[in-house]
Amino acid sequence: MIAQKIKQAIRDIPDFPKAGIVFKDITPILKDAELCVGITDAFVEQLKDKHIDAVAGVESRGFLFGLTLANKLGVPFVPVRKAGKLPYTVKQKVYDLEYGTATIELHTDAFEPGARILIHDDLLATGGTVSAASELIQEMGGEVVGFTFVVGLGFLNGRERIAPVSDNIIVLAE
Ligand code: IMP
Repeated sequence: MIAQKIKQAIRDIPDFPKAGIVFKDITPILKDAELCVGITDAFVEQLKDKHIDAVAGVESRGFLFGLTLANKLGVPFVPVRKAGKLPYTVKQKVYDLEYGTATIELHTDAFEPGARILIHDDLLATGGTVSAASELIQEMGGEVVGFTFVVGLGFLNGRERIAPVSDNIIVLAE
């Protein structure tokens, strides 16, 4: 039901951000308040008994539902940001992209050692971004206890890539 509504709302943008890529544009979801609440509730329903201490959302679309999810779970939200955006002291992780590298950062006081962290992003493609986030969180002493995504591109096998970290993977529309 929710999967169908998400799929109907998303639009495909051919050749964005570059030729050959079909970009899944989630912004129409954000215009539908009822659907946004439904998405957050669908995550919460499956996470109630998972004893999550904080939700880490990946810049930038991971902030959208990451925060509402954390609020509903009654736990802190921590932003995983691109290099140079966080103002306080940071820990960083450099990871490989198809061409070149990218860097993500977390504040050093984002969570306490041993905290049970859920990683959230809008979309799961290859899983490279959330893998880097999970490595950074683990290096900082956190335990990654699950992943949530609004959309998954199943053909890119992101699930397989992140399953060794946690098999608690929730993808609402795949
Ligand atoms: P991955 O690291 O290959 O799993 O790519 C996922 C990351 O890229 C997420 O942070 C997404 O926001 C972003 N991303 C990749 N493809 C799309 C898309 O088609 N629509 C929206 N975001 C995308």
